[in-house]
Amino acid sequence: MLFILKKGADWSTLKEKISSSGASYRYLNLYGKELVVAWPDSLVETVVDPSVEMKVKPKRPFQLASNEWKSDPTIVDVKGVKIGDRKVVVAAGPCAVEDEEQLMTTAKEVKRAGASLLRGGAFKPRTSPYSFQGLGVKGLELLRRASDETGLPVVTEIMDQRHMEYFKKYADMLQIGARNAQNFDLLKEAGRSGMPVLLKRGMGNTVEEWILTAEYILLENNGSVVLCERGIRTFEKSTRFTIDIGGMVSAKLQTHLPICADPSHPAGKRELVHSLALAAVAAGADMLIVEVHPRPEKALSDSEQQLTPEQFSLLMQRIKALAEALGRTA
Ligand code: PEP
Ligand code: MN
Repeated sequence: MLFILKKGADWSTLKEKISSSGASYRYLNLYGKELVVAWPDSLVETVVDPSVEMKVKPKRPFQLASNEWKSDPTIVDVKGVKIGDRKVVVAAGPCAVEDEEQLMTTAKEVKRAGASLLRGGAFKPRTSPYSFQGLGVKGLELLRRASDETGLPVVTEIMDQRHMEYFKKYADMLQIGARNAQNFDLLKEAGRSGMPVLLKRGMGNTVEEWILTAEYILLENNGSVVLCERGIRTFEKSTRFTIDIGGMVSAKLQTHLPICADPSHPAGKRELVHSLALAAVAAGADMLIVEVHPRPEKALSDSEQQLTPEQFSLLMQRIKALAEALGRTA
């Protein structure tokens, strides 16, 4: 249950009423609104208080992410880059940061092609422990340098909350990867960091489970969450994962959060990336995150799906044309 408070109201009597009902609650200041979320609904059904402007009982399990109480779309601001607005925002860069030259070259190329954010993994979640694991903190430092040089804010994956101090220092947006999508302690810590979060959908998660992972972040008083569809596991083997365009649209229709699509990981192959990216934009994605490498065939991870800078530049032209046809920009 959501109790939206009157601006600046003294809610001490509401607090007492909720506490004495035995319900759990949290006071939040989200999107310029003061509110108290209390649960379970059954214990607070009859609670009324003069501090409350509106009481909302969302039908969906994700109360804060639901557009039942907030109908205007949320715009997430990453150092001035606005995600969820008219412009289709594109983040691009290598799967993994490998060395200074590779990152700097890519950063400059994607900037030239029109990307707004730089991506690149410093801590890599790899299926095999024998695969390249990323440069760690050194990779974060390189990302910061590339960002300072190009002016592109950085989005990069955090795998362990114990590394948060480095991400606060070097990154502009946290990425939670598909493999950590339901690492609830990491989600809470990402929420508490106050940083914008790009939240991937777990490859085995339903849309509802995915949105509930965002709820963990919102409940820490952090409203800057972008949901990212990156493909789910199905029986289909012709692509690496099955990009769930319908699920992405469903998430958009049920929440106020901006939606991103990652066409690279579901594609698994370079030649599929353009089509998946364009399909996602056509379906209403607010953002794309695309892997680009100056020499994809030499990449230390995801070599087959990374675009060359030339291929990325062509993709940007296509995205721009499509965005314009849809009354947007890119
Ligand atoms: C990535 O973006 O580099 C990545 C590992 O993605 P995912 O978590 O979606 O597999
Ligand atoms: Mn990758």
